Amino acid sequence: MPTTVVISQAQGKNPAKQQLEAELVAALSSDGNVEVSLVPNLYDLAADHSAMQFLRSIPGDVIVLSWLFPRAARWILDRQNVRGHEGVSLLESKSDDEESTDESPARKNGNGRHGPDDTKKNGNGNGNGHGTEPDLRPVPNRKVYCLDLRDHSDAKVYIDEIRRIANESSMPLFDLFSFLKTQPQPERLEKYLRPLDLLAEQKSATSLDDDDDVPANGEVVRRRWYPVIDYSRCTNCMECIDFCLFGVYGLDPLGSILVEQQDSCKKGCPACSRVCPANAIVFPGHKTPAIAGADGEVGDVKIDLSRLFGAPSAVELAARERDVELVRDGRDTVGLSIGIPKRLKDKPKKPRDELDDLIDSLDAMEL
Ligand code: SF4
Ligand code: SF4
Repeated sequence: MPTTVVISQAQGKNPAKQQLEAELVAALSSDGNVEVSLVPNLYDLAADHSAMQFLRSIPGDVIVLSWLFPRAARWILDRQNVRGHEGVSLLESKSDDEESTDESPARKNGNGRHGPDDTKKNGNGNGNGHGTEPDLRPVPNRKVYCLDLRDHSDAKVYIDEIRRIANESSMPLFDLFSFLKTQPQPERLEKYLRPLDLLAEQKSATSLDDDDDVPANGEVVRRRWYPVIDYSRCTNCMECIDFCLFGVYGLDPLGSILVEQQDSCKKGCPACSRVCPANAIVFPGHKTPAIAGADGEVGDVKIDLSRLFGAPSAVELAARERDVELVRDGRDTVGLSIGIPKRLKDKPKKPRDELDDLIDSLDAMEL
């Protein structure tokens, strides 16, 4: 009974990444227990792209390998209605607190530990770390495994893990041909099951700029930039919708926050991730691991320390980033006057801790 494995391609044409993808495809294509498919970068896929339709059509367990933090990949898929219980990988995730300067950000334990199955934070099984607005959406009875291709350079590590998962999986046989018959353009979807052909086709498309559109399977995939909400953390506090002045956020019929107009977000700007009190907003392409989906906090301690040296707080930085985008749009800046004072005003004062003592000591020294 084959297991469905989906490899989400890296953005750009990094030879090492392409090599790893090719090795995985080659090894898994000859494995009778696995159906491997190669799709463009998950983050860049529009909802109506055939690869996303393909992903939504997979009825059983699925293993997704991408060049993204697992938490980011998981919630990108969730937004596109590719949902399931979190499958736990036994692969080690490389931890690294340093910020990266290239397109492969440093990472810190991005193993997707906060999926819908997470009971560590509030113990209610709904996965909402703050316990105020549990994610009540039904979760299909299957598992979604997200593996980070940046963690290991050896294809064998992933192949062994995929085989381990496939062996323990009880997923139903994916009836591919029945599915393809129901699709308006079966030849396109079929291509996702012939990844070696797709790899060759893309290798020959050398005239394209790395940062521009990439043809995939006859369809254009543009690089995109938009926030992804981690609903295991989101408390539905609405600070993001108050803060964003570009119409990106909206509400679903039940009043839950959602990223409604993904492509209205301003490329390269992560401002709202800095104002989210739950660290629930992920920009998978950002170079800062905590913003790109690694576990950890976006602001707090690091920002507090940076203030010692006169750097702006996370919220001040977010306001500046927002102002830059407002000016680019020919609008007036608003600074801290819109969208953020509510949280600052309402934020309960934390009990004194060692950091406060440190700051007081430094103040006393009049540095
Ligand atoms: S600010 Fe964060 S926690 Fe609040 S609604 Fe937005 S994503 Fe959810
Ligand atoms: S980054 Fe800026 S434009 Fe994009 S959603 Fe956040 S606040 Fe809105």
